[in-house]
Amino acid sequence: MSDITANLAYESHSIAHHGPRLRISEKIALTAMGIGSMLLALSLIAVNGSTSETLKNLWFNISWALAIGGGGYFALSKHLKDRPGVRNQGKTTDSLTARGAWGWMLGIVFTGFYIIIYWFPQYLEGLTRLHDGLSQFLQGKPADEWFVYGTVYTILTTLMGAKAIAKYRHNRYHIVRTSVIIFAQLIFAYLFPAICVKFNQPEVYLTYFWPLAYDKLFPSTVMHLFHSGGLGYFIAGWFICGTFLATPVLTYYFGKRWYCSWVCGCGGLANTMGDSWRQLSDKSLKSWKIERWSIYSVLALIFSLTVLLWCEPYLPASMKEIVYQIRRFYLFGIGAVFSGVIGVGFYPLMGTRMWCRFGCPMAAFLGLLQRFNSRFRITTNGAQCISCGNCSKYCEMGIDVRHYAQRGQNIIRASCVGCGICATVCPRGVLSLENGPTNNRYNHEEGLSLLGKMKSR
Ligand code: SF4
Ligand code: SF4
Repeated sequence: MSDITANLAYESHSIAHHGPRLRISEKIALTAMGIGSMLLALSLIAVNGSTSETLKNLWFNISWALAIGGGGYFALSKHLKDRPGVRNQGKTTDSLTARGAWGWMLGIVFTGFYIIIYWFPQYLEGLTRLHDGLSQFLQGKPADEWFVYGTVYTILTTLMGAKAIAKYRHNRYHIVRTSVIIFAQLIFAYLFPAICVKFNQPEVYLTYFWPLAYDKLFPSTVMHLFHSGGLGYFIAGWFICGTFLATPVLTYYFGKRWYCSWVCGCGGLANTMGDSWRQLSDKSLKSWKIERWSIYSVLALIFSLTVLLWCEPYLPASMKEIVYQIRRFYLFGIGAVFSGVIGVGFYPLMGTRMWCRFGCPMAAFLGLLQRFNSRFRITTNGAQCISCGNCSKYCEMGIDVRHYAQRGQNIIRASCVGCGICATVCPRGVLSLENGPTNNRYNHEEGLSLLGKMKSR
């Protein structure tokens, strides 16, 4: 039986049996996850500064053990008992994955969480105090709302990463890539910064470079690092080399995927927790136009702001006020609202890469390098394409992959993050992520003539 027939047979079987076919163990796991989550939510009103350490630690251990154990077991069991890969059935009708009631509800919860953590952190006091024990152990000081955020972010990336590995277990690229995402988040973006704080060193997130971490090359940050001694010099050097040396060199060899799909925490969360919503990205030409205007405007803004801040001592007072206002706008409008509230809050409504696609200046910078000076391309074997559209549907960056595949053209788009899902979901093996010589990246004429010859046979 051919691949296509086998896939169709499987899909028909799945559709016929579509529904909540949960095992008893999965029901128990779901219940445990629900109880754990409710205990965490309850801490918001029931825990405060006067709650005893013993009670807080017990509460913390029980609630997270139930939430992680139950959620992890359920997610892994659900995917391991199923055939590996993406399931088409239900994707456009399920409430959770097709902007139904569950999707909206989760969108509101995510968005609400970001609004509270940015502007009303006092309402998270109970949950924050619950994490004091862990924070004391890792950072040597009581927790704040950003420690709680980092903990939740890391747990979700790890747990949903394990789920993604189970889901794509037939594909080595995704197993290795997702393992690296989990490792980078856990070690470089969570444990390392916490340990830095414990030893009275600057708190640094080694996986975030300028311009994504916009303040990393601001004069105030660089001077602070230089005044912090040996480790400060190392960290300042790390950020400068990361931005101006590692970024162009690695992007030349591997495309922007080395960062956006392997290292970056934003991409990490999108490809783990957000994987179920990747099909919601808008594929229209209009959104592609908006994307280009929007993302390069943000890049231009942070570039100008950084230059202006370095020139600030030489600017007149009126100009300094303008620089101050631009900085405030960037922190609020781009750093908080766009990257946080919209970037993650809108996952269940508009897909998982809203920030990466429309706002991230790092993605814009990497995209320019990928477009004009990189060995990366997605090659297409156009004659094999049956125009099923799976590739376009599951492209989280809204690229109409099928358009290129039908013509046998290489895909060289600034926005492609090299996640590889288009190649994985293609039932005909048409697409392949490759690094190769730069002189034959654009094969548009060659692709069309080859396709013509194949079709005329
Ligand atoms: S074109 Fe393919 S590899 Fe690139 S972002 Fe879209 S799905 Fe990922
Ligand atoms: S490239 Fe593959 S997934 Fe995309 S339309 Fe063609 S056959 Fe379908």
